[in-house]
Amino acid sequence: MLCSARITAVLFDLDDTLIDWSGRLHNFADTARPHINNLYDCLTAAGHTLPERETLFQQYNEAVVQGWEKAKKNWSGVNFGRVLINTFIRIGLDVTRIDLDAAMQAYDWQPIPGVRPYADTHTVLQALKDSGYKIGLITNSMYPMWMRDVELQAYNMLDYFDARVTSGDTGYMKPHPAIYRRALKMMDAAPESSVFVGDRPANDIAGANNTGMISVWMNPPHIEFDLNNIKPDYTITALSELLPILEKLETEK
Ligand SMILES: [Mg+2]
Repeated sequence: MLCSARITAVLFDLDDTLIDWSGRLHNFADTARPHINNLYDCLTAAGHTLPERETLFQQYNEAVVQGWEKAKKNWSGVNFGRVLINTFIRIGLDVTRIDLDAAMQAYDWQPIPGVRPYADTHTVLQALKDSGYKIGLITNSMYPMWMRDVELQAYNMLDYFDARVTSGDTGYMKPHPAIYRRALKMMDAAPESSVFVGDRPANDIAGANNTGMISVWMNPPHIEFDLNNIKPDYTITALSELLPILEKLETEK
């Protein structure tokens, strides 16, 4: 354990920071297709009259796009439950007759085909844990954390984290400071003693900087984001490069 460490917590973005999307098999919309089919079957079995499957799929996708467009105006969080309600309204269902929790369960979210942890993800998370750092996760995801936990569980990553938040649950997305503060509070960590690692400069890095955290830009070869004058404190191209940075931060205190 660390006796008087300068850094007490290390927080991560999820997608393309801890898990590698470079091998993903489908686009975003098609990833949802089997789950929308599950939802369709559940609603039909419950006695609701639905249009063609393709109509539900299209209306869902439009509700998702509309939700993100609206949320990006003030960095509020898109909420999956709200997206489903908007989808049901679009296809003329009586939302008062729908059990939203049951619908979300029936959607049956699963790990995304072709997405997996990086080769060094487990090694790095275990090294951080062994060093006594608290480990956090902040993801801009409309899904509630319990749904993203299905992925973390499948990747054997769930037990590393002391705090995990999604923007869908929080009502704010990165770069809004509120989502960072929520995770920091859950970990009882101060921003200046915390490191944030993420791949999207405009979301992950800008928000970490504005919150007063030490920012590390994860810039793996398959990703091409422009920094656009956003200045990360450190840049890495693989997660294992984070460990010497932490060592340096501890020795420089
Ligand atoms: Mg990301």
